[in-house]
Amino acid sequence: MINKNFKKLSENYLFQELALKRNELIKQGKDVIALAIGDPDLETPMPIREAMAKEILEVYHKYPESEGMLELRQALSQYYKKRFKVNMPADNIFISFGAKTDLFDVVRVFSNTEDVIAVQDPAYPVYENSILFEGRNIKYLPCIEENNFLPDLNLLDKNIALAYLCYPNNPTGATAPKSYLAELIKKLKQINALLIYDIAYADFGPRMAPSIFSIPGAKDIALEFGSFSKPYSMTGYRLSWFAAKNPEIVKYWQKFRNNRDSGCSNYIQKAGITALTSPEVEKIVRKNMAEYSERAKLLKTGFEKLTMQVFGLEHTPYAWVSIPKGYTSKSFAEKLLNEAYVIVTPGSGFGPSGEGYVRATIFQPKAKIEEALERIGRLKL
Ligand code: PLP
Repeated sequence: MINKNFKKLSENYLFQELALKRNELIKQGKDVIALAIGDPDLETPMPIREAMAKEILEVYHKYPESEGMLELRQALSQYYKKRFKVNMPADNIFISFGAKTDLFDVVRVFSNTEDVIAVQDPAYPVYENSILFEGRNIKYLPCIEENNFLPDLNLLDKNIALAYLCYPNNPTGATAPKSYLAELIKKLKQINALLIYDIAYADFGPRMAPSIFSIPGAKDIALEFGSFSKPYSMTGYRLSWFAAKNPEIVKYWQKFRNNRDSGCSNYIQKAGITALTSPEVEKIVRKNMAEYSERAKLLKTGFEKLTMQVFGLEHTPYAWVSIPKGYTSKSFAEKLLNEAYVIVTPGSGFGPSGEGYVRATIFQPKAKIEEALERIGRLKL
């Protein structure tokens, strides 16, 4: 029989639905500009591609190790030291094939059926979907303009076993100050809950956001998930990591990984080592970030000219745009889609508190962003 929890998930995954709409319009011959999905358009730096190609051509690849190649885990350990000033031994890092997979699975490893799991609202939809799919109870933590898109810590009560948080945040673009994160850790320790911390965007933009392990006390309760996807344009490679300090958490994650999968392909991990260690890649990424930053300015000033308020964009590739009166986020996104052939993501797709906003990405060339804004302007909203 099919798992009854499928009924709790929406018919189509949010971004699959948007892709279907885009394909339909393209089939009709429309010139669609997609500002919806967070998939970098600037290509994977060449040294990363070459490293993988070489590895495939020259090496016979057998089953990898579930925790990942030591060389990559050591490179990440160095990265933690250099980037965050955090001591994270290679043995505490596990390589995986995309943070999405791990973020979906983590609920079943670290909670039980009756547990309540807290999730930011709005948030990356995978968190909520995993909670629903595992049949756990959900508690939304609204992240709204009035609280600077940071959950009210008073909402965290003793029933909560796990909490999902992500900074820099998708979709709001908000960052969390260290002082807030310190209070968060204190509160979660008081109520005996674990923290799932998503840093998929930590290296997008100015690289200022901390690892959760920069925060005192986090070592006891935090699980951190990072990804190569966005900073290195490696969404198609599927490469990510999990890091934890608490030996019990590490032990059970290892046990889970040994049972669930046979690790991430070594040739992809070789590409990851190059991403982290090649000075050439570093140069290309810096150039890409400068381009993204120009696009961000364009998108921000463009929407503001249309009298819409814009949040985010500094630390993430997303603009969180408050929509004109008289629309829901869905009806507004549909209007842009049907009348301007511009695709943005309705905020309500990220959770109830996303209502009133749409999310737009910077993953289009400047000329396309300008054209999209012009088309939206012509709608006289
Ligand atoms: N976490 C957040 C907040 C994301 O927005 C995304 C992708 O958009 C991911 C994780 C997924 O990362 P990966 O490509 O490593 O699966």
